[in-house]
Amino acid sequence: MIARALFDAALSAARDWHSSIPEMSAFCDWPSDLNYEERTAVAQPVIPHLQSDPGTASAESRNLRDALVALAPQAEWRLTYSEQEVGRDMLQRYGWFELAGPDGHFRTDQTRMTVGYWGAGLDYGRHWHEAEELYSVVAGSATFMADGEAPRTLGPGQTRLHRSNQPHAMTTADQPVLTFVLWRGSGLADPPRMAPP
Ligand code: ZN
Repeated sequence: MIARALFDAALSAARDWHSSIPEMSAFCDWPSDLNYEERTAVAQPVIPHLQSDPGTASAESRNLRDALVALAPQAEWRLTYSEQEVGRDMLQRYGWFELAGPDGHFRTDQTRMTVGYWGAGLDYGRHWHEAEELYSVVAGSATFMADGEAPRTLGPGQTRLHRSNQPHAMTTADQPVLTFVLWRGSGLADPPRMAPP
């Protein structure tokens, strides 16, 4: 399949996912201003990890998981952090890309929709950003932590909300995690920042 068809298939699966999960539908409307933009694929070491071990999906999430795995070689993968901030292992087995947003494969100013993957046994330390955020787990599992809240381990179809500037963190245990994440509000185009220890 040509790249454009893979992006369209992933966007369609993401739209079904957004409409089927009440927390996602309530978080933001599906954007009305989406425009496909040609972006050069950027490969990162995470791609073969995602392809060989995308994480266990549910019956409901399999379509989106498989569309994202198929899309992976075409995506503009980003790492954001330095090795000093998150360590070499995470940079080898983690990555994210912006499916839609101010700087995404589909351009929109109404939300930011990113796809992130972390291999098993990784610690993503405390970080924060101004935009509000809703994580959904597409495949695998991770434990989500946020200041002022009890940790929660989530699997496919489950969500976690982070408020504006609320520091949060995530760890994976014996499974990787594939996530589909929505942002809303101010700071849509900003990168997250690691929180001071
Ligand atoms: Zn976040």
